[in-house]
Amino acid sequence: MFQKRIELLQLFGFRVYVDVSWLIIAALVTWSLASGVFPQSYPELRPLTYWIMGLIGALMLFLSIVVHEFSHSLVARRSGLPMKSITLFLFGGVAEMEAQPKSPGAEFSMAVAGPIASILLGGLFLALSAWGLAQSWPTPLRGILSYLGVINLVLAGFNLLPAFPLDGGRILRSLLWHWKHDLLAATQIAARVGRVFGWLLVAIGALNIFRGGLVGGLWLILIGLFLRSIAQRAYQEMRLRFALRDEALQRFIDDDAAALSPDLPVDEFVEEYLYRRRGRTFAIVADGKLKGCVGPAQVRRIPKRNWARKTIGQLSRRCPPKRRIGVDESAADAFDKMRRQRLRSLFVVDGERLLGTVRLESLLRFVSAKLDLESPAGDEGSRSPGP
Ligand SMILES: [Zn+2]
Repeated sequence: MFQKRIELLQLFGFRVYVDVSWLIIAALVTWSLASGVFPQSYPELRPLTYWIMGLIGALMLFLSIVVHEFSHSLVARRSGLPMKSITLFLFGGVAEMEAQPKSPGAEFSMAVAGPIASILLGGLFLALSAWGLAQSWPTPLRGILSYLGVINLVLAGFNLLPAFPLDGGRILRSLLWHWKHDLLAATQIAARVGRVFGWLLVAIGALNIFRGGLVGGLWLILIGLFLRSIAQRAYQEMRLRFALRDEALQRFIDDDAAALSPDLPVDEFVEEYLYRRRGRTFAIVADGKLKGCVGPAQVRRIPKRNWARKTIGQLSRRCPPKRRIGVDESAADAFDKMRRQRLRSLFVVDGERLLGTVRLESLLRFVSAKLDLESPAGDEGSRSPGP
């Protein structure tokens, strides 16, 4: 889902990314503030002032979302969940899906942290704006403050909808999980509620359009469809993870991914491997040990006329840890790792020894077949997961 993202800053050891979709939203927010919200509430100001207010409002909204996400991440890290990055997506709270909480309690406190932060921020901005009114601060400043107060409360309210994987849905799931002792069933129910909420928003949006509110209606429909799809996706990923949880990685190892010798000339590598085999990154192995990785990026660095004279051993770079997985880890770990790193395959190693490759498609094929076998008769196809 988060394919185009830009690194923005690093704070407390977290990398903060912003998704491209967010930039579009930021422009829309600025525009709707400058041309609608502020002129309606403060009709006496000049057009340029509205645009400056709009821009500051959008930037501060963005910072408010960062604070919301940080609250989740700090609590998550305190309960031992590795969270190294935050991606600001359409509505904030979606970036947290990567973390798998260890207990209902941990999930609950992680989920409530964001909305609590937003409510506190909202209260703070509203108090400032009220104080500004008493002190007769300039109108544009008060306008921005009261907008930020309201929008933070709206943000808290939206995220508290009991629609998984929004924060409210996570709170619901943690309660169900606590109560039923079954994470998968809890996720299923929470995701169903999320889908129902999604459809509800679509219906309200459609009603809005019929009654003349085109833009507001379209927004609601968009958010509703988005909620529906992320709820579906979050549940499917959870089911995938459960199906893979007890599977040893060993059974998914493809050893067709030939271990290449460092002496292989680059032109042969391009011809025989890059053009013909699956995958883009290949392992270089000497004495059974993983010596490095090579792919198009390394080949590109040398001119084509030198391809016959160079060997891939001369090009190889160290295989980064993100491309490897230990053979004693589970298939679900491999799935998580590929998802986090956006990779379609990993090298399976035993210490320094290369055992083979595990591919996302093999994992997905396995899960799909497993679920087909488990699904009740007459339910054909409707349970096949993932892409
Ligand atoms: Zn949140």
